[in-house]
Amino acid sequence: MRLRNKPWAREYIEAHPQYIVANPENYKGKWHEVFTNQQPLHIEVGTGKGRFITEMAKAHPEINYMGIEIYDSVIVAALDRLIEADLPNLRLLNVDASDLNKYFEKNDVDRVYLNFSDPWPKTRHEKRRLTYKDYLKLYENILVNKGEIHFKTDNQGLFEYSLKSFSEYGLLLTFLSLDLHKSEYEGNIMTEYEQKFSEMGNRIYRCEVKYQN
Ligand code: SAM
Repeated sequence: MRLRNKPWAREYIEAHPQYIVANPENYKGKWHEVFTNQQPLHIEVGTGKGRFITEMAKAHPEINYMGIEIYDSVIVAALDRLIEADLPNLRLLNVDASDLNKYFEKNDVDRVYLNFSDPWPKTRHEKRRLTYKDYLKLYENILVNKGEIHFKTDNQGLFEYSLKSFSEYGLLLTFLSLDLHKSEYEGNIMTEYEQKFSEMGNRIYRCEVKYQN
Protein backbone atom coordinates (compact mmCIF):
# COMPACT_ATOMS: atom_id res chain seq x y z
CA MET A 1 0.00 0.00 0.00
CA ARG A 2 1.58 3.33 -1.05
CA LEU A 3 1.22 5.65 1.87
CA ARG A 4 0.68 9.35 1.44
CA ASN A 5 0.93 11.14 4.73
CA LYS A 6 -2.41 12.78 5.53
CA PRO A 7 -1.90 15.03 8.56
CA TRP A 8 -5.66 15.63 8.80
CA ALA A 9 -6.50 11.90 8.95
CA ARG A 10 -6.45 11.49 12.76
CA GLU A 11 -8.81 14.40 13.33
CA TYR A 12 -11.11 13.15 10.55
CA ILE A 13 -11.23 9.66 12.12
CA GLU A 14 -11.96 11.06 15.57
CA ALA A 15 -14.81 13.13 14.14
CA HIS A 16 -16.58 9.93 13.01
CA PRO A 17 -16.75 7.58 16.02
CA GLN A 18 -20.07 6.23 14.73
CA TYR A 19 -18.13 4.60 11.83
CA ILE A 20 -14.57 4.07 13.15
CA VAL A 21 -15.14 2.70 16.62
CA ALA A 22 -13.45 4.77 19.34
CA ASN A 23 -12.16 2.86 22.40
CA PRO A 24 -12.84 -0.56 20.85
CA GLU A 25 -11.46 -2.31 23.96
CA ASN A 26 -14.74 -1.32 25.67
CA TYR A 27 -16.70 -3.65 23.38
CA LYS A 28 -14.70 -6.85 23.87
CA GLY A 29 -17.29 -9.61 24.27
CA LYS A 30 -20.21 -7.23 23.57
CA TRP A 31 -19.97 -6.11 19.96
CA HIS A 32 -23.72 -6.70 19.61
CA GLU A 33 -24.14 -3.46 21.60
CA VAL A 34 -22.46 -1.56 18.76
CA PHE A 35 -24.52 -3.22 16.04
CA THR A 36 -27.65 -3.43 18.26
CA ASN A 37 -28.39 -6.94 17.00
CA GLN A 38 -27.11 -10.53 17.39
CA GLN A 39 -26.04 -11.12 13.77
CA PRO A 40 -22.79 -12.99 12.99
CA LEU A 41 -19.65 -10.84 12.76
CA HIS A 42 -17.19 -11.17 9.85
CA ILE A 43 -13.97 -9.15 9.97
CA GLU A 44 -11.48 -8.24 7.24
CA VAL A 45 -7.95 -7.89 8.56
CA GLY A 46 -6.01 -5.35 6.47
CA THR A 47 -9.03 -3.79 4.85
CA GLY A 48 -7.14 -1.04 3.00
CA LYS A 49 -9.49 1.39 1.27
CA GLY A 50 -12.51 -0.74 2.15
CA ARG A 51 -14.15 -1.61 -1.13
CA PHE A 52 -14.54 -5.34 -0.33
CA ILE A 53 -15.98 -4.92 3.15
CA THR A 54 -18.39 -2.16 2.06
CA GLU A 55 -19.71 -4.17 -0.87
CA MET A 56 -20.01 -7.29 1.32
CA ALA A 57 -22.00 -5.31 3.89
CA LYS A 58 -24.34 -4.02 1.16
CA ALA A 59 -24.81 -7.53 -0.27
CA HIS A 60 -25.36 -9.24 3.11
CA PRO A 61 -27.38 -7.08 5.50
CA GLU A 62 -27.91 -10.19 7.68
CA ILE A 63 -24.20 -10.20 8.61
CA ASN A 64 -22.25 -7.59 10.59
CA TYR A 65 -18.88 -6.59 9.13
CA MET A 66 -15.81 -4.90 10.45
CA GLY A 67 -12.84 -3.65 8.45
CA ILE A 68 -9.56 -3.50 10.37
CA GLU A 69 -6.76 -1.28 9.10
CA ILE A 70 -3.61 -0.15 10.85
CA TYR A 71 -2.85 3.04 8.90
CA ASP A 72 -4.97 6.13 9.47
CA SER A 73 -3.92 7.55 6.08
CA VAL A 74 -5.45 4.45 4.43
CA ILE A 75 -8.55 3.90 6.56
CA VAL A 76 -9.84 7.39 5.77
CA ALA A 77 -10.61 6.16 2.22
CA ALA A 78 -12.69 3.32 3.74
CA LEU A 79 -14.33 5.88 6.03
CA ASP A 80 -15.38 7.98 3.02
CA ARG A 81 -16.97 4.90 1.44
CA LEU A 82 -18.82 4.12 4.65
CA ILE A 83 -20.03 7.69 5.15
CA GLU A 84 -21.47 7.56 1.64
CA ALA A 85 -23.03 4.11 2.04
CA ASP A 86 -24.10 4.66 5.68
CA LEU A 87 -24.53 0.96 6.41
CA PRO A 88 -25.83 -0.12 9.84
CA ASN A 89 -23.97 -3.45 9.58
CA LEU A 90 -20.45 -2.10 8.95
CA ARG A 91 -17.89 -0.54 11.28
CA LEU A 92 -14.16 0.13 10.96
CA LEU A 93 -11.35 -0.32 13.44
CA ASN A 94 -8.12 1.64 13.17
CA VAL A 95 -5.87 -0.81 15.05
CA ASP A 96 -2.96 -3.20 14.58
CA ALA A 97 -4.12 -6.78 13.94
CA SER A 98 -1.44 -8.09 16.29
CA ASP A 99 -3.56 -6.59 19.11
CA LEU A 100 -6.83 -8.27 18.07
CA ASN A 101 -7.09 -10.02 21.43
CA LYS A 102 -7.40 -6.61 23.14
CA TYR A 103 -10.64 -5.96 21.27
CA PHE A 104 -12.23 -9.38 20.76
CA GLU A 105 -12.66 -12.50 22.85
CA LYS A 106 -13.49 -16.11 22.00
CA ASN A 107 -16.77 -16.38 20.02
CA ASP A 108 -16.89 -12.66 19.10
CA VAL A 109 -16.07 -13.33 15.43
CA ASP A 110 -17.59 -15.84 12.98
CA ARG A 111 -15.25 -15.40 10.01
CA VAL A 112 -11.94 -13.73 9.15
CA TYR A 113 -11.22 -12.40 5.66
CA LEU A 114 -7.63 -11.84 4.54
CA ASN A 115 -7.42 -10.15 1.15
CA PHE A 116 -4.14 -9.42 -0.60
CA SER A 117 -2.25 -9.33 2.67
CA ASP A 118 1.23 -7.82 2.54
CA PRO A 119 3.50 -10.69 1.39
CA TRP A 120 6.62 -9.88 3.45
CA PRO A 121 8.74 -12.10 1.15
CA LYS A 122 11.95 -12.02 3.22
CA THR A 123 12.24 -15.01 5.56
CA ARG A 124 13.30 -12.75 8.42
CA HIS A 125 9.91 -11.01 8.13
CA GLU A 126 7.87 -14.24 8.25
CA LYS A 127 6.31 -13.32 11.61
CA ARG A 128 4.70 -10.24 10.03
CA ARG A 129 2.69 -12.29 7.52
CA LEU A 130 -0.96 -12.35 8.53
CA THR A 131 -1.02 -16.13 7.94
CA TYR A 132 1.95 -16.85 10.26
CA LYS A 133 1.11 -19.36 13.00
CA ASP A 134 0.96 -16.72 15.75
CA TYR A 135 -1.76 -14.88 13.78
CA LEU A 136 -3.62 -18.17 13.25
CA LYS A 137 -3.59 -18.58 17.03
CA LEU A 138 -4.83 -15.01 17.47
CA TYR A 139 -7.74 -15.63 15.07
CA GLU A 140 -8.55 -18.93 16.79
CA ASN A 141 -8.78 -17.09 20.12
CA ILE A 142 -11.45 -14.68 18.84
CA LEU A 143 -13.39 -16.94 16.45
CA VAL A 144 -16.28 -19.25 17.20
CA ASN A 145 -15.52 -22.98 17.19
CA LYS A 146 -15.09 -24.19 13.62
CA GLY A 147 -14.63 -20.57 12.54
CA GLU A 148 -13.36 -19.84 9.04
CA ILE A 149 -10.63 -17.87 7.31
CA HIS A 150 -11.23 -16.85 3.69
CA PHE A 151 -8.02 -15.79 1.97
CA LYS A 152 -7.21 -14.45 -1.48
CA THR A 153 -4.10 -13.03 -3.08
CA ASP A 154 -2.29 -12.78 -6.40
CA ASN A 155 1.02 -13.57 -4.70
CA GLN A 156 1.92 -17.21 -5.41
CA GLY A 157 4.69 -17.29 -2.80
CA LEU A 158 2.42 -16.00 -0.03
CA PHE A 159 -0.38 -18.34 -1.10
CA GLU A 160 1.86 -21.42 -1.01
CA TYR A 161 3.34 -20.34 2.33
CA SER A 162 -0.16 -19.77 3.74
CA LEU A 163 -1.52 -23.16 2.59
CA LYS A 164 1.43 -24.79 4.36
CA SER A 165 0.95 -22.65 7.46
CA PHE A 166 -2.81 -23.46 7.57
CA SER A 167 -2.11 -27.16 7.13
CA GLU A 168 0.64 -27.26 9.79
CA TYR A 169 -1.72 -25.50 12.19
CA GLY A 170 -4.35 -28.20 11.60
CA LEU A 171 -6.85 -26.11 9.65
CA LEU A 172 -9.14 -27.93 7.25
CA LEU A 173 -9.10 -26.81 3.60
CA THR A 174 -12.70 -26.47 2.39
CA PHE A 175 -12.29 -24.43 -0.82
CA LEU A 176 -9.39 -23.92 -3.20
CA SER A 177 -9.06 -22.06 -6.48
CA LEU A 178 -5.77 -21.48 -8.27
CA ASP A 179 -7.42 -19.14 -10.78
CA LEU A 180 -10.45 -17.53 -9.17
CA HIS A 181 -11.54 -15.35 -12.06
CA LYS A 182 -11.58 -18.32 -14.44
CA SER A 183 -13.36 -20.58 -11.94
CA GLU A 184 -17.09 -21.12 -11.45
CA TYR A 185 -17.01 -19.43 -8.05
CA GLU A 186 -19.99 -17.09 -7.80
CA GLY A 187 -20.48 -13.94 -5.78
CA ASN A 188 -16.87 -12.79 -5.76
CA ILE A 189 -16.48 -9.20 -4.62
CA MET A 190 -13.27 -7.63 -5.86
CA THR A 191 -10.95 -5.71 -3.59
CA GLU A 192 -8.99 -2.66 -4.78
CA TYR A 193 -5.82 -4.76 -5.09
CA GLU A 194 -7.66 -7.56 -6.85
CA GLN A 195 -8.95 -5.17 -9.50
CA LYS A 196 -5.50 -3.70 -10.04
CA PHE A 197 -3.58 -6.97 -10.18
CA SER A 198 -6.11 -8.89 -12.26
CA GLU A 199 -6.10 -6.05 -14.81
CA MET A 200 -2.33 -6.55 -14.98
CA GLY A 201 -3.02 -10.19 -15.94
CA ASN A 202 -2.17 -11.74 -12.55
CA ARG A 203 -3.98 -14.88 -11.45
CA ILE A 204 -5.98 -14.71 -8.24
CA TYR A 205 -5.61 -17.54 -5.72
CA ARG A 206 -8.33 -18.16 -3.15
CA CYS A 207 -8.93 -20.61 -0.35
CA GLU A 208 -11.23 -21.17 2.62
CA VAL A 209 -10.01 -22.95 5.72
CA LYS A 210 -11.76 -23.95 8.91
CA TYR A 211 -10.62 -24.56 12.48
CA GLN A 212 -11.43 -28.10 13.56
CA ASN A 213 -12.63 -27.08 17.00
N1 SAM B 1 -7.39 -5.79 1.47
C1 SAM B 1 -7.13 -4.63 0.63
C2 SAM B 1 -7.23 -4.99 -0.82
O1 SAM B 1 -7.22 -6.20 -1.12
O2 SAM B 1 -7.35 -4.08 -1.65
C3 SAM B 1 -5.75 -4.01 0.97
C4 SAM B 1 -4.56 -4.86 0.65
S1 SAM B 1 -3.03 -4.07 1.14
C5 SAM B 1 -1.81 -4.94 0.25
C6 SAM B 1 -2.81 -4.71 2.79
C7 SAM B 1 -3.42 -3.81 3.86
O3 SAM B 1 -3.28 -4.45 5.12
C8 SAM B 1 -2.75 -2.46 3.97
O4 SAM B 1 -3.72 -1.44 3.93
C9 SAM B 1 -2.04 -2.53 5.31
O5 SAM B 1 -1.91 -1.26 5.93
C10 SAM B 1 -2.94 -3.47 6.08
N2 SAM B 1 -2.26 -4.15 7.19
C11 SAM B 1 -1.08 -4.79 7.12
N3 SAM B 1 -0.72 -5.27 8.32
C12 SAM B 1 -1.72 -4.94 9.17
C13 SAM B 1 -1.93 -5.14 10.55
N4 SAM B 1 -1.02 -5.78 11.32
N5 SAM B 1 -3.06 -4.68 11.11
C14 SAM B 1 -3.99 -4.01 10.37
N6 SAM B 1 -3.83 -3.78 9.05
C15 SAM B 1 -2.72 -4.23 8.45
